[in-house]
This record gives sequence, C-alpha cells and structure tokens, in this order.
Amino acid sequence: MLAKEAVGRIESAVGERPIAWVIMEALRDGMNRAEIIKGYIPPHRLLSDLGISDPCDIRTEAIAQHCGATIVYERLKGSAARILGFGNKAFITVDLESRRERQRFSAGHELGHWMLDRGKVASFACSEVFFATEWGKDNPEKRANRFAANLLLPQFMFEPCAKNKDMTFDTVTSLAREFETSLTATAIRLVELGSYPAMIVCNELGRRRWFMRGPDVPDRLWPKETPGAYTCAYDLIHKSARKEPATDVQADGWIDHPRSKYYSLREHSVAISTDLILSLLWWKDERQLLDFEEDESERDDE
Ligand SMILES: [Zn+2]
Repeated sequence: MLAKEAVGRIESAVGERPIAWVIMEALRDGMNRAEIIKGYIPPHRLLSDLGISDPCDIRTEAIAQHCGATIVYERLKGSAARILGFGNKAFITVDLESRRERQRFSAGHELGHWMLDRGKVASFACSEVFFATEWGKDNPEKRANRFAANLLLPQFMFEPCAKNKDMTFDTVTSLAREFETSLTATAIRLVELGSYPAMIVCNELGRRRWFMRGPDVPDRLWPKETPGAYTCAYDLIHKSARKEPATDVQADGWIDHPRSKYYSLREHSVAISTDLILSLLWWKDERQLLDFEEDESERDDE
C-alpha cells in the first residue's frame, strides 16, 4: 500500500486523472512507484493531453515546454544533446549541426531523462552512440531511448502506417521520413508494431550488442552471438559495403536452434556506423515459427 502522503503527492501530480489509472499506465511503461510519485506522464498521455494525433504535430519543442523543459540549439562538442535541470525547470541543449531527425530523437531522449530521472540527477550529456547502442540492458539511457521512441513513434499513429508493410529497411526509411525519426528507433518500432514476425539485431564490431523480438517470435528463439558466414551482415562486417539488399538466407546463419538449417528468413542489414550493423530478420515464410510452436506444445504434453 502507498502511504497517505505519497497518495497526496500523486494526486497533486496527476490532477484530475484517477490515481489507479495513472499508476497502471506508468507501471505498464516500466516505471516504479517512486517515479510515479514524481509526476511521470507516459508519452502517449502527453500526446493525448496536448491533442496531438498526427505525426507532423509531434513538435518536440512544444511538448518539452509543456513538461517544463526548454529546448535550445547550439553547437556541441563531444555530445549530441545535454540536459540541465533544477527544480521544476530544465534546459535541453541539442546539437545545432545534427540532422533534423537526430535532433528530434536527441530532444525526446533528453526529455525522457527529465521525466524519468528528475530529482535523482541534475544533468546528462548524451552522445550519439547511446541512441543506437543503449537498447539492451536496463539503464537510464535505455529508458530515455524508450521514452523518445514511444513519444515520436506512438503506437496509435505508427501501427496503421506500418500495417501489412514489408519488414525491411525500405519500409523503415519511408516511415522514418514520415515521422522524422532515426533509422534505429523506427526499425525497433516496426519490429514491435508491424504486421509480420521479425527480430532486430544490432551487432557491434561483429558481436551482438542487443536484439529485440517482435511479439509473434517465441522467447526461446535466440540470435547467435555472431552472424554466420552466409549472412548479409557478415558481408557488411567483413567488406566495406554500407548496405545489402533484402535477401533470403538460411536461418541457421542467425538463429541458435538445432533445426534452423531447414528454414530460411529474409534478412535486411545496413551499416549505421563503421562499427554498428543493424539487421532486420523477417520470417516471411513462417514455417519455422509454426513448427517451433508445435514442437514446444508436444514437449509440454510429454
Ligand atoms: Zn542520455
């Protein structure tokens, strides 16, 4: 049970909204109760409070201002964005020379720090590389990335746009243009909210840094620590190419399962920096997933 005093603080933080509802929303977004007490507002609630229902209206400056944070643009060295907070006010500085989609993600990320870590830390300086690498282990950078992705690519707008689209970087590029967002965040949302089963894997210097499964991919299917020799990612790692076309490859190049060699998946890999390769793995032919589920249910019956 929450203490009476804490409940009072939540009430003042959430205004008219029912407390149980706000707690439920925030817990669903991975927040703990201390963060709820501070007045955390989930991204989809911020958008709804501001009446935003179209991607072109997701203006980071206005949303940040609504949360007490002012965004300014300056030339930055050694970081893509910074935040300095005191009391209920914060200043977010975004690198003037970044591309617009990067500036928007940087701003969303810093706003995530402001909403999630207010009171715990007064300042953050975040480098561009965090936006691509910090999606695995839970830490403040991952939480800020998640906040930015949920704010800039909200489910209720993104899902209809991604419906029945190929799980490839061609789709990602077109959605990223529409939402003015980074390739990495858009690819993650496509895997989470797209119509077909897929996985996204980020390899750094040839080894898996993080990965995410789409909701229809069984939890027990894992990508290998390093992509196999006949994958497109392998070619990107070992050659100087930046991008390979979407290609059907044998699943055992990617998936750590004894029967993977009997199946194929469609891989689309791109190099997002000299060290980082992003790969979308799409079970366009879903037989492996169906057979896997059948095997698992037979095993459970034994
Ligand atoms: Zn950060």
